[in-house]
Amino acid sequence: MTSGTVRRYRNYIGGEWVEPASGEYRPDIDPADSRTVLGEFPRSTAEDVDRAVEAAAAAFPAWSSLSGPQRAAILHKAANILEARAREIGEALTREEGKTIGEGVGEVLRGVAILRYFAGEPLRPLGEVYSATNPETFLYTERVPLGVVGIITPWNFPVAIPLWKLAPCLAFGNTAVFKPAELTPLTAHLITEVFVEAGLPPGVLNLVHGPGSVVGEAIARHPKVVAVSFTGSNVVGRHLYQIASERGARVQLELGGKNPVIVAEDADLDFAVELTTSGAFRSTGQKCTATSRVIVLEPLLHEFTTRLVERARSLKVGPGIDPTVYMGPLVSEEQRQRVLGYIEIGEKEGARVLTGGHELSEGDLRYGFFVAPTVFTDVEPGMRIAQEEIFGPVVGIIRARSLDEAIEIANGVPYGLSASIVTRDIRRAFAFARRIQAGVVHINSETAGAEPHVPFGGMKASSSWSREQGRAALEFFTQVKTIYFDLPPA
Ligand code: NAP
Ligand code: MG
Repeated sequence: MTSGTVRRYRNYIGGEWVEPASGEYRPDIDPADSRTVLGEFPRSTAEDVDRAVEAAAAAFPAWSSLSGPQRAAILHKAANILEARAREIGEALTREEGKTIGEGVGEVLRGVAILRYFAGEPLRPLGEVYSATNPETFLYTERVPLGVVGIITPWNFPVAIPLWKLAPCLAFGNTAVFKPAELTPLTAHLITEVFVEAGLPPGVLNLVHGPGSVVGEAIARHPKVVAVSFTGSNVVGRHLYQIASERGARVQLELGGKNPVIVAEDADLDFAVELTTSGAFRSTGQKCTATSRVIVLEPLLHEFTTRLVERARSLKVGPGIDPTVYMGPLVSEEQRQRVLGYIEIGEKEGARVLTGGHELSEGDLRYGFFVAPTVFTDVEPGMRIAQEEIFGPVVGIIRARSLDEAIEIANGVPYGLSASIVTRDIRRAFAFARRIQAGVVHINSETAGAEPHVPFGGMKASSSWSREQGRAALEFFTQVKTIYFDLPPA
C-alpha cells in the first residue's frame, strides 16, 4: 500500500465514527514487512475519553434496563457476524500483529465462542433466594451492572482479550469505553464494527484509540468510570491499579507470566518436545501463557535438549500470512530489541544459546521484526532470563534432580499464571497439580491454551487475585443487591 491510499480510521463515540480532538493520527504497520502501512489511527487525548465516558454514561440507563434475553440477542448476532467475517478479520489480525494465519483465524473463531458463551450468561441465574427471619419476607439477591467500565487491552490477543472483557461487560448491562493497544488498532476497529452491525445501541460501546499513557491514563482517572478491566504488563497494571482504586473504582488486572513446563523422568520425549515447542514458539512466544522455562529431570536432560534444539531449528519462520510458516515476527521493533536484550543478558549471566539467539534478516525478512527460535541451556533458576518475562521466542532449559526440586524451581518466581507437567505417572501429576502455584494448570498439555467457559487468571504477581471468563466474569462485571421484600399492612 502506498501512502496515498492509506485509510484513516476514526474513534467510535456515542454511535458515531468521529475524528480525534487532536486531529492527529499514527500509522499501523505490518510487523512482517514494515514498509506496509495498514491504516492510520487516531491519537486521541483526554478530551476524546471524556466524550466517550459521557456517551457511555448516557447510554447506561437504557442498556441496563433491557432484559437479559434482549441483550443476549445482540451478542448472538455479533457472534454470527464475526463468524461470517472470520477469514477477513483473521487476516487483518495476522497483518497487524504478526501471528500466523492459522492462529489469527483461530483466535477470531475463539472470539465467536466467547460471544456465544456470554450471550448465554444473562440467561443463567443472577441471584439467590434466602429464608428471612420474618416468614412473610421475600429475601433475595440480584446481580446488577456497575455502570461505565474501562476496557484496556494489550496487542498480543487483539481479538480474544477485548472480547472476553467486552462480552460479559455488555451482557450484564454495563456500558464500555474500550482502549485497545496502539499496535493493534485495526482489529479493535473491526470488532467494534461487528458490534455496530449487530445493532448495539449508540453509546453502549465506545472505542478510543491512542497511547496508553494518555488515553488509558484518562480512563483510569475518570470519575465516571466505575471499573477498569486491564490486561497487560505488570508495571502499567500496578500503576493503573493505584490511580483507579485510589478513587474507589473496581480494578481487575491480568498481567505477566514466567510459565514453566516440567518434563518428568517418565515423560514421552517427542511429546514433551512438541508441547514445549508449541508453548514456547507459537505466537512467537508472545502469549502471557507462553512456555518460557523447561525444567527437565536429569536422566532426560541430554536427550530432551538435543531433540528440542533440532525441533526449534526446523521451524519455518516468516510472514504469518504464508500458511506454511510456523512462527511470525515480533510485534514491533521495540519488542524485538527487548527480546535481543534479554538474550544478551542470558549470555552474560552464563547461560548458553544452543540455537537462535539472533535476528533473522535474510531476503525480505529484513523488512520485518524477526528473531530466530532461541533455546538456552545451563540456565540457573535465579538468572534474570529465568525470572523475568521476556515475551518472545526464547526458552530456557533448567536442570532438576527430583520432582520436588522441579516444583520448587517452578514456584520460585514472582509470577504464577500457567504451568504444565509432562508425565505418565498419576502420582507425579497429582503432586504437581496440588503444589504448583499457578492459576492455570496443565497436565500433559502445553502451558498456553484456555477455554472461554472456565475461569482464567494467575496467582501471585500475575493478576490482582481476580479471574476472567466463565462464571468468574460475573464477579467482576456485576455487584450484589440484597432485597428485603416485605408487604405493607393489608
Ligand atoms: P502494556 O504495555 O502494559 O499495555 C497494555 C495496555 O495498557 C495497552 O493498551 C497500553 O497502551 C495501555 N497502557 C500503557 N500505559 C498506560 C497507562 N499509563 N495507563 C493506562 N493504560 C496504559 O502491555 P503490552 O506490552 O501491550 O502487552 C504485553 C503484556 O501483557 C505482557 O506482560 C503479557 O504477559 C501481558 N498479558 C497478560 C495476559 C493475561 O491474561 N494475564 C494476556 C495477554 C498479555 P499502548 O497501546 O499505548 O501501549
Ligand atoms: Mg506496550
